[in-house]
Amino acid sequence: MPEDEAGAAFDAAHRLALDFHRTRATRPPAATAGFAALLEALGGPTPESGMPASEAIEQLAAAAGPGLMGTAGPRFFGWVAGGSHPAGVAADWLTSVWGQNAACYEGAPAAAVAEQVAAQWLVDLLGLPPECSVGITTGATMSNFVCLAAARGALLRRMGWDVEADGLFGAPPIAVFIGEDAHASVLAALRYLGFGERRLVRIATDEAGRMQVDALRAALAHCRGPHLVIAQAGHIMTGAFDPVGEIAALTHEHGGWLHVDGAFGLWARACPARAALAVGVEQADSWATDAHKWLQAPYECGCAFVRDADAHRRAMTIGAGYLPPAEEGGVRDPVHYAPELSRRARGFVLWTLLRAFGRSGIAAMIERHCMLAERLARRVAGEAGIAVLNEVELNQVVVRFGAHEPASLGDALTDAAIARIQQDGVCFALGAQWRGRRVMRVSIIAWSTTEDDIERAADSMITAWREVRPVSVDEGGVAVNA
Ligand SMILES: *Cc1c(COP(=O)(O)O)cnc(C)c1O
Repeated sequence: MPEDEAGAAFDAAHRLALDFHRTRATRPPAATAGFAALLEALGGPTPESGMPASEAIEQLAAAAGPGLMGTAGPRFFGWVAGGSHPAGVAADWLTSVWGQNAACYEGAPAAAVAEQVAAQWLVDLLGLPPECSVGITTGATMSNFVCLAAARGALLRRMGWDVEADGLFGAPPIAVFIGEDAHASVLAALRYLGFGERRLVRIATDEAGRMQVDALRAALAHCRGPHLVIAQAGHIMTGAFDPVGEIAALTHEHGGWLHVDGAFGLWARACPARAALAVGVEQADSWATDAHKWLQAPYECGCAFVRDADAHRRAMTIGAGYLPPAEEGGVRDPVHYAPELSRRARGFVLWTLLRAFGRSGIAAMIERHCMLAERLARRVAGEAGIAVLNEVELNQVVVRFGAHEPASLGDALTDAAIARIQQDGVCFALGAQWRGRRVMRVSIIAWSTTEDDIERAADSMITAWREVRPVSVDEGGVAVNA
């Protein structure tokens, strides 16, 4: 490829990226093109002859544009999606240009050291034990996998079984205790590790999704042999935290391993005003979190922390004759802490984001999101017929429309209001099933969200509700003619 063609492709990408970035707040928060239109725009026969890279980039942007979601914008409240912060994006560009294979120090020295340094900064910011080892992964699903693989190996080793050498067939069974409200990705990670869903002991949770300590105590009382307990910091709907300190004491009293899924909630520990929510979390044995959620890294970036670094390395290490031998002289090879061998140099993005935000910047952003969630909750709950179902302590708001209506009518009204909000296109939020009812779930987690965005979103939600609510509902929210 001629030099000027590379330059043209980079220039095109840069111009298109700036365009997108500058209009991200005014673009629709959801895709405007449907499947058929996207297939039409992106499809066609297999390309036979090529074209200049810059043209391919132009075509990509034109075809993909209408199918892009507003996840990088300020009023996208669906799922739990970080906002792809420009500092991380710019580092991600360089990461691609540099093309480093961050498997080991020898093959990518700067990448390995950037990851090593960023990993230590993360342990510090999240207040985790300093002896932790860290794996940088594609997200919390893989981080859960890494931690649970380490747990599996360590627990079986205590029983005299070497799972890394002898595998799982014939191994002593490990009892797994996990809350009824665990995230589906943890169940997937357990499945990959040979813990089928029917083997799990599900522990009852309270109205906010928190594991009930008494229920865990009762379940553990019957438990002999190695066991694994999985707690959650930050419930996907309510943002609630399991009482991890109490769970840790119980788990360790019985000689078990406690893992915490803190995909976004773990970040409360980086925010002094919210850290009390996640107190006791540091007593666990392993932790999974995401950088592409609250730290705003572009996808994909997650972190796995394991107190027992040896168990972590044993579970993940890849050795081969052509790879460097054991780590020496303080050098750390990323490959020994996560599943992939050839891997993206995610350490550059992490390093840059942590540098750009700093401890105070991260704390301020998290606190702002929590305040914005409270603000939105106050606004919508002030409208007759709308209720907020959770205690808003973090960044999550669970909204019910037709709050005083019979359940099935409330379900229908909630779905109608959500459809109306999506049609309005000011913000994006999704429906979900929660405790047997339809709700709208709102996650406020994008770096660019402002008070004005929240006011506009609240206006849109309230207007939508006024349009769909039945005439039979009076100002007090009571059905008068039902
Ligand atoms: C998002 C999330 C996950 C999964 O994380 P991915 O980054 O999507 O793999 C796991 N647990 C919780 C609580 C989450 O919010």
